[in-house]
Amino acid sequence: MTKPCIICVAITGSLPKKENNPAVPITVAEQVESTQEAFEAGASIVHAHVRNDDETPSSDPEKFARLKEGLEKHCPGMIVQFSTGGRSGAGKTRGGMLPLEPDMASLSVGSNNFPTRVYENPPDLVDWLASEMREHHIKPEIEAFDLSHIHQAAAMNRDGRIPGKLYVQFVMGVKNATPVDRDVFDYYIKTVQRLAPEAEWCAAGIGRHQITVNEWCIASGGHTRTGLEDNIRLDKDHLAPSNATLVKRAVELCDKYERPVATWQQAREILEIPLKAA
Ligand SMILES: [Zn+2]
Repeated sequence: MTKPCIICVAITGSLPKKENNPAVPITVAEQVESTQEAFEAGASIVHAHVRNDDETPSSDPEKFARLKEGLEKHCPGMIVQFSTGGRSGAGKTRGGMLPLEPDMASLSVGSNNFPTRVYENPPDLVDWLASEMREHHIKPEIEAFDLSHIHQAAAMNRDGRIPGKLYVQFVMGVKNATPVDRDVFDYYIKTVQRLAPEAEWCAAGIGRHQITVNEWCIASGGHTRTGLEDNIRLDKDHLAPSNATLVKRAVELCDKYERPVATWQQAREILEIPLKAA
């Protein structure tokens, strides 16, 4: 297979803390440094949340602005994706950083259960986030936690709420949501290809399933996500020493399946994300 594989690195997330793995980047300076290493190792998309100094999740646009500035300086060309996920804020505060015009933002188009609560994505909030992304020329990455989310994303693509080529990520292994199940994975791919033949897809596996899902994606012609947000371990006995180490594991799998690792230029071409003028 000669199709380049886009590797996304989810550097921080909302949950893991230094006490879980000291390599989790928390401050903006740490996030920029960790991303630069991951970029040099082969990642072409960075998926980012920001944190307060006490490591709790934040949705502060000022922090996102400093992060974007640092990433553009130290990782030129890399696709910057901000999270609009619901652990960092409620309602419209989740999209408060979208006027900064990152290349991409994550977008959940439906609700589901999380380990200890409901992940609420009401239709009016989803439509508002999608409209902000259109206004600010941001490409959404659809976070599909459930099959219905793929159908909803395809419907929004058809009616213009999500214009252009759809990019869907299957999130597998979050407790109480979609499990890491090979038949489900294959059916999600089939569903994306049936409903939106032009779409590109990727997947993320949580915890020890990260490497499994990475391998499924790479072997099946998709793109893939890794990083400390989803998994802090190399194996049962060892913490991952950095985001870059997890990216290198994905690069090794690309070598195994003879997939070239997408450069940032190729990733932008595949996803139709032009380089924005600084
Ligand atoms: Zn995230």
